[in-house]
Amino acid sequence: MQEAKIKFDHVTKVFETRSQTITAVKDYSMEIQAGEFISILGPSGCGKSTLIRMLDGIIDTTEGDILIDGVKVNHKGKKMPSSVLRKLGFIFQQPNILPWYTVRQNVALPLRVFGLKGPEWDSRVDELLEMVGLKEYAGAHPNEISGGMLQRAGVIRAMVHDPEILLMDEPTKGMDAEYKEEIGKILTRLKQHGLTIFMISH
Ligand code: ADP
Ligand code: MG
Repeated sequence: MQEAKIKFDHVTKVFETRSQTITAVKDYSMEIQAGEFISILGPSGCGKSTLIRMLDGIIDTTEGDILIDGVKVNHKGKKMPSSVLRKLGFIFQQPNILPWYTVRQNVALPLRVFGLKGPEWDSRVDELLEMVGLKEYAGAHPNEISGGMLQRAGVIRAMVHDPEILLMDEPTKGMDAEYKEEIGKILTRLKQHGLTIFMISH
């Protein structure tokens, strides 16, 4: 059998706060194959964000392992290797756009983080900007474009370094129907390129 793209192997996460012990995730196992689109649904507080934060290495598991392409990413204090991190793209609820950069510079930020440069990466940025109708706004600053445009910039920024897995934590929360539809279309197009998508919905 093919190795899972993402594997949760009996994962438990317990938060110890001063006043209480919270088991946010209990003995969770799941395998996601390359190219699958997985959507996790559940009520507020059931541990969805905790799952995604363990997967992207922000927090560690209490028990169990998480593997990406067979490589353990729960870290016991160690940083996730950059070779694995590069495989991940994140779409945040808030677009987290930096106001002092242009739209293009914001979208290209992961390229700087991962040291990816050259004409092929430049043209990838152009293609993505074009794909979501932001090409004419490439030189604009975030305060000069609409909220929907900022969201689109956030989506393509998550994709710019050509990740294999896209992680989204309630990307359309509080969004209007039009924007949701737009995100859906973008994702469908990206999906055609074989991307594995892990999405939290509400
Ligand atoms: P969801 O995303 O499904 O709404 P979360 O994963 O954010 O749920 O939270 C699951 C549970 O874990 C909640 O009870 C939440 O209060 C608790 N929790 C999440 N993060 C922390 C933390 N850093 N410290 C203590 N408790 C936390
Ligand atoms: Mg959440």
